[in-house]
Amino acid sequence: MSSSRQTRNQKLILEVLQHQSQPLSAQEIFLELRNANHTVGLATVYRVLDALRNEGKLQSVNLGDPQTYYQVLPSNGHNRHHLICTQCRQVIPLSGCPVGDLESQLSGQYQFVIEYHVLDFYGTCARCRGESGPESGSQESTLLKAQPK
Ligand SMILES: [Zn+2]
Ligand SMILES: [Zn+2]
Repeated sequence: MSSSRQTRNQKLILEVLQHQSQPLSAQEIFLELRNANHTVGLATVYRVLDALRNEGKLQSVNLGDPQTYYQVLPSNGHNRHHLICTQCRQVIPLSGCPVGDLESQLSGQYQFVIEYHVLDFYGTCARCRGESGPESGSQESTLLKAQPK
């Protein structure tokens, strides 16, 4: 409950995330901490993650399953856009902003002061496509066939 303990937990969780190239769920962070012999309860992990996200130190990522994943935000710049592989969860940051022009255009058109925007792209990375081999190709065609009509 003490604030020094809270700070310690925040540090621990940020460290776990900083050592990962991919976003982690609260459950995975909890397990990482436990493997490193840090006893932080799952409820605490959730609470700390919430606090860190509110402070803008973390970003939550949705990968199309019910879990929420968290990743550390780069401390500087507008490095907020990503290509996210839904298979291996690799997150590839985009340099710069692909919609800067759109933002100023919308701002002018609607007389709207835009403070920020969120933009991520989801799909399958080159590595996952390369490794998946012919099996996933046939999976894909089964999916297509399975669609009604
Ligand atoms: Zn991938
Ligand atoms: Zn942007």
